[in-house]
Amino acid sequence: MFADIADQADAEAEQHLNAALIRRVRPEPASANHWNGNCGEPSVPGTSYCCCECREDAEKIARAKVLNRH
Ligand SMILES: [Zn+2]
Repeated sequence: MFADIADQADAEAEQHLNAALIRRVRPEPASANHWNGNCGEPSVPGTSYCCCECREDAEKIARAKVLNRH
């Protein structure tokens, strides 16, 4: 099936892209402006998060901070 081959090529291209991005992005310590998450992965360029789990954690913390202000 062409679709399967295309999917596989996409997945492979994505892996290469991720590898290139990971090499390019230096891991930094977590801060208010640059959440580096819990899993130790560098954040995805264009976002402050490395993965959706860490994004959810960061959003929980951000929400807690807002609540604490009241
Ligand atoms: Zn993560």
